[in-house]
Amino acid sequence: MTSLAAENEALERKSPRERLAWAVERFGDRLLFTSSFGAGSGVLLHLWSEVARELPVIFLDTGFLFDETLAYRDRLAEQLRLNVQVVRPGTSREEFLREHGSNVYEFNPDLCCQHNKVDPLAPHLARAAAWVSGLRRDQSAARSSTPILLPTVRDPAEPGPAEGPVKVHPLATMTGAEANAYLRDHGIPEHPLVARRYLSIGCAPCTRPVEDGEDERAGRWAGKGKTECGIHTALRPRG
Ligand code: SF4
Repeated sequence: MTSLAAENEALERKSPRERLAWAVERFGDRLLFTSSFGAGSGVLLHLWSEVARELPVIFLDTGFLFDETLAYRDRLAEQLRLNVQVVRPGTSREEFLREHGSNVYEFNPDLCCQHNKVDPLAPHLARAAAWVSGLRRDQSAARSSTPILLPTVRDPAEPGPAEGPVKVHPLATMTGAEANAYLRDHGIPEHPLVARRYLSIGCAPCTRPVEDGEDERAGRWAGKGKTECGIHTALRPRG
């Protein structure tokens, strides 16, 4: 079997659709796809509907999402006939806030993300051989060197085997402008909050619109010294 390093090099020259089709062929039903149904998510969701419609799309409902995101999820699920499976934290938003404080996401966003994002996804990641997500290199400085394939190892504190899933980023080389053109060309609506300059959309308390000149993810956890929720960073690059 060709090494992942060689596959990565070959996939760099392929289209996003070809990369995703390769991942479906290689990993089958152990390919995990999570979508936030956020800004630009329609691109990968459309590709998924073409090459892997029978496989589930995992949607993490933290309890803190915008109502617009839930409506957008329902709209795209119907339009693209997606098999959406909703994953939720072990405790409700109300219970969580009662236990940790009504504005815990302000003073301890790492704890909040761990409980409401990282922990609920952990069992799905533990079963996965590969994990496809829509990261693009032009979204932020932190994502500028995102490879198409990234073998991982797990944080020792996380459940599951030491070896993590291979991260698969079919859209890594796509620009924001190309993503917008893709949505237009395929008749896929954009998340309604994009029109109000929410260019990266997560939980409502931790997302603000982006100013001119800021990168796409500048509105996430603004002013908190945090740039990622921990879902991606719980897995470390292998080697
Ligand atoms: S993004 Fe904000 S509200 Fe959502 S889980 Fe993380 S800290 Fe909590």
